[in-house]
Amino acid sequence: MADGTLRSEVTKTVGSAQEALWILEHVESHARSGEDVADEARALASRRAAGEPLQYLLGSWPFRTLELSVTPSALIPRPETEQVVEAALRRWRSTRPGDGHAIVVDLGTGTGAIGLSLLAELADETEITVWLTDRSPDALELARVNAGRLGAEGIEIRQGEWFAALDGPLAGSVHLMISNPPYVAERDRAGLDPVLSHEPDEALFSADSADGVPGFSDVETLIRGALPWLAPGGVLAIEMAENQVEAARGLATSSGFVNVETIIDLAGKPRGVVGEAP
Ligand code: SAM
Ligand code: GLN
Repeated sequence: MADGTLRSEVTKTVGSAQEALWILEHVESHARSGEDVADEARALASRRAAGEPLQYLLGSWPFRTLELSVTPSALIPRPETEQVVEAALRRWRSTRPGDGHAIVVDLGTGTGAIGLSLLAELADETEITVWLTDRSPDALELARVNAGRLGAEGIEIRQGEWFAALDGPLAGSVHLMISNPPYVAERDRAGLDPVLSHEPDEALFSADSADGVPGFSDVETLIRGALPWLAPGGVLAIEMAENQVEAARGLATSSGFVNVETIIDLAGKPRGVVGEAP
């Protein structure tokens, strides 16, 4: 255990007793003999004080039941995304499309957080294959590391733009399609917490839609294109910004989805849309 002097020094540097504790625990558990715990803790503390996200410094972070490797190659998984997974699971369980063998697709998987959680949490209930896609090869490298911890069984990893990453034969057979696409509007960049500047731009920012909904173009692409990939009764769940939910619900309904509902996050805010293929 680090002595009290080091702990108060690190607390002072990072401005948080809890973060100091995490940093010290991390350094101690990773220390090789001869390594100087105090120097390493001080180095991490000053990087944190200079604005790097704690999660990247620790190198791993929990998401639902999993402990995921996190690096600057991909977005740090967020608590609101855990709620989107929860809503998707609830909807899938209410109708259980694909009885017997569920085909699940996580588009824009980043660390693999969403798809790997679904694999881990549904494994006792159904046979399952999870497709993890991203256009970023670096993100997929990380997803591959996280997938490796769960064993390779039932995981397909594909690089490419949204639906183009999927194999044609999957069309009409997906039982649960889920995505947390980029949805932050470029116009909001200046007001963002500077800690977000350490995450990949392509994970966060999306263009405005043609009819002017800020940051909505990727959400729109996904809702417009999803239906042909889904099996009858297949579920689509997408995370988005609060001010995009109304447009997304309208678009989902006009695109042919049924039972379209809003996903609410832990703070009570609308944060996504879930619907089903007819
Ligand atoms: N699913 C992860 C999570 O929830 O933590 C990461 C979500 S991050 C907000 C969005 C992801 O979508 C990034 O990994 C990014 O590389 C990927 N992405 C962005 N544009 C894409 C596109 N046109 N096609 C495929 N993936 C894309
Ligand atoms: N929830 C993230 C944020 O605003 C945005 C993630 C995203 O664009 N999908 O911090």
